[in-house]
Amino acid sequence: MIRINDNFLLLPESYLFSEVARRVKEFQEENPEVKVIRMGIGDVTRPLCKAAIEAMHKAVDDEAETATFHGYGPEQGYSFLRDKIADFDYHKRGIDISSDEIFIGDGAKSDLGNFFDILAQDNTVAVTDPVYPVYVDTNVMGGRGGKRDGEHHDGIIYIPINKTNGYVPQLPKQRPDVVYLCSPNNPTGTAMTRNELQKWVTYAKEEGCLILFDSAYESFIHSENVPHSIYEIEGAKEVAVEFRSFSKTAGFTGVRCGYTVVPFALKGLDSEGNEVSLNRLWNRRQCTKFNGASYISQRAAEAVYTPEGRSQIKETIEYYMENARMMRESLTETGFEVIGGVDSPYIWLKTPIGMTSWEFFDYLLKTHGIVGTPGSGFGAEGEGYLRLTAFNTHEATKEAMLRMHN
Ligand code: PLP
Repeated sequence: MIRINDNFLLLPESYLFSEVARRVKEFQEENPEVKVIRMGIGDVTRPLCKAAIEAMHKAVDDEAETATFHGYGPEQGYSFLRDKIADFDYHKRGIDISSDEIFIGDGAKSDLGNFFDILAQDNTVAVTDPVYPVYVDTNVMGGRGGKRDGEHHDGIIYIPINKTNGYVPQLPKQRPDVVYLCSPNNPTGTAMTRNELQKWVTYAKEEGCLILFDSAYESFIHSENVPHSIYEIEGAKEVAVEFRSFSKTAGFTGVRCGYTVVPFALKGLDSEGNEVSLNRLWNRRQCTKFNGASYISQRAAEAVYTPEGRSQIKETIEYYMENARMMRESLTETGFEVIGGVDSPYIWLKTPIGMTSWEFFDYLLKTHGIVGTPGSGFGAEGEGYLRLTAFNTHEATKEAMLRMHN
């Protein structure tokens, strides 16, 4: 019989969202009259903007005619989209990133999971705790997790983000080869300032580390001193890969489109100590294992950069951020300790004294009919917190806040 990748057996069952769903289902069956408000999901709820929809209709029509039909596209993405990204997301912010450093994909998750294809197997990895679970699980699958030791894998370096450090990842005592940073952060909703990010870039340069920078929530940034891109920081092009997504920016969670920036300045060492361009290797990897994001998705993403598209997605983001503002204000007034929600659609709520994340989850569900996500599901440091999202409607968000106030 075929042998399997044993590393998969080291992964914990993906218990968090299935357990949330099980408890909600059970509650709803026992209390069918309660209108449950879901504030646990990390998915958007508002439809795609009109500009993207029109562009998709047009792209479908293109596919119907021989003259405009598009079959396989470039593995790196169409230049009509790469050029727009380079221009709007980088040049207009004073960042010198060229189209050839941008790789279009089907969302950030795949690229975050796949990037290690081009790195040595035995690189040590650091993640924050709490963390977006994809970073940990892909490394466990790749054999870098070591043994499981309670909540942690002993091959991975965990950097706590908690009240003591102001929910900002501090430089680790043990040097990692690769570190995942997510800002604005899922799940804590906090974002790293220019100074904080500068510390990491300087550290990475001095120590020869690679930063995998996930800025899937970049478009939610409102604070002046929070960089939208890690390349706003001097020297970052030599140490960082940036992962971006149209999922939360423009409602593409179902359509699927994102991109990864691998600067030409970024180099790694081969086993003989020679410098090799990571851009070259990633390009090779994509050409071999990926056939490009769909033409229709890429046309939709392109439309997000038109004047109409830009104003339409801004309106939707502001809609969610109005929910976040409402939640922050109301929960603070109710007496909760509230983190995040200023530069991100996530609120990280401290549980009332003595309650674990799951106890608070059950309390909110049973007393108020509100569903959150237990913070302990994102890591040991998440114990004693609950994540709420701002992706619901104004009406449901307001109703939830009223329920929690009473
Ligand atoms: N990175 C973070 C931090 C996320 O929260 C998510 C999705 O929830 C992703 C990446 C994945 O996004 P995508 O839909 O582009 O795969």
